Amino acid sequence: MSRAGKKSLEECLERVVPSERVQRDVPMREHTSFRIGGPVDYLVTVKSRSELVAVLGCCRRVGVPYLILGRGTNLLVRDGGFRGVAVRLDGAFLDLEWEGRRVEAGAAVSLADLARECGRRGLSGLEFAVGIPGSVGGAVVMNAGAYDRSVSDVLESAEVLRPSGRGEGPTGGPAGGEVARISAAGLGFGYRRSCVQDEGWVVLSARFELVPGDPVAIRALEEEFTRRRRERQPLDLPSAGSVFKRPPGHYAGRLIEEAGLKGLRVGDAQVSEKHVGFIVNLGRATARDVLELIRRIQQAVFERSGVVLEPEIKIIGEDS
Ligand SMILES: Cc1cc2nc3c(=O)[nH]c(=O)nc-3n(C[C@H](O)[C@H](O)[C@H](O)COP(=O)(O)OP(=O)(O)OC[C@H]3O[C@@H](n4cnc5c(N)ncnc54)[C@H](O)[C@@H]3O)c2cc1C
Repeated sequence: MSRAGKKSLEECLERVVPSERVQRDVPMREHTSFRIGGPVDYLVTVKSRSELVAVLGCCRRVGVPYLILGRGTNLLVRDGGFRGVAVRLDGAFLDLEWEGRRVEAGAAVSLADLARECGRRGLSGLEFAVGIPGSVGGAVVMNAGAYDRSVSDVLESAEVLRPSGRGEGPTGGPAGGEVARISAAGLGFGYRRSCVQDEGWVVLSARFELVPGDPVAIRALEEEFTRRRRERQPLDLPSAGSVFKRPPGHYAGRLIEEAGLKGLRVGDAQVSEKHVGFIVNLGRATARDVLELIRRIQQAVFERSGVVLEPEIKIIGEDS
């Protein structure tokens, strides 16, 4: 970003959020579960919808890309970092509103905490999510799921912010935005995908519709899912969960194992010994290590089985 660009962005941000919530040159490794990633130019924390609209307006006015940061559990940020603004949701985005079998959860709420609270209230449907470490917003974007269930099975609708103007992307167009409630059917859900990012929307909140259940039975199922994860996943090491989507008719893990790649290492990035679908950071892994490991896995699996593995994790930023 040019010096003039930085100056006008900073002047704009200063007008719309308190200065202590605008951080400069923040290493993304501090904000991702992989513990990898170079610096983002600005990390801005917004606590209300109006602040969010205003901050995105600043970005668009100055022509600076932005990234909505959830809990960073599905993100690989390259070593050169991200030239733009990472926006973190807080404050009002942590609100929960309960109404009978429904709950409206702010985008920054922890999906796993929400799932557990539903269980305590005798509401069933989100048990699968107790071990998914992301936010509600990230879970809607990714249509997060496990054990043959996913967010789209329990989501009734989501409120999204649409960039104002005529379909401008995140980096163009005038300031402002329009809030719309979109039904689950309108969110373009598929396997680990939604249309939220294609449309350039920001998830503000999500309304889940659950069914009454026995809190004891719900708790038992949650404990079973948690036990399975502890047994099968390398939860003691930084990772971004499963790196690849499940290819139709196959399991990514099995293909990787059959290609003899368990434990394969590039630098400090390793194909987990415990769950071959995960790449773990053994300490000082760089994004370059992870990307090279991904390339080698894709090549070896393709050569052995003819299947193209597609990353599930979002890869952003620039090389160093
Ligand atoms: C140990 C471990 C286990 C995991 N297990 C599972 C699993 O079982 N199933 C599964 O599906 N995933 C799993 N994941 C991956 C991850 O937790 C999910 O994909 C989760 O939904 C990502 O949420 P997040 O808030 O961390 O999103 P982030 O990683 O912060 O962001 C992901 C993408 O969503 C965008 N985004 C985030 N919030 C918003 C918003 N409010 N509006 C618009 N865009 C937004 C970001 O810009 C980014 O492109 C696992 C990860 C780990 C580390």
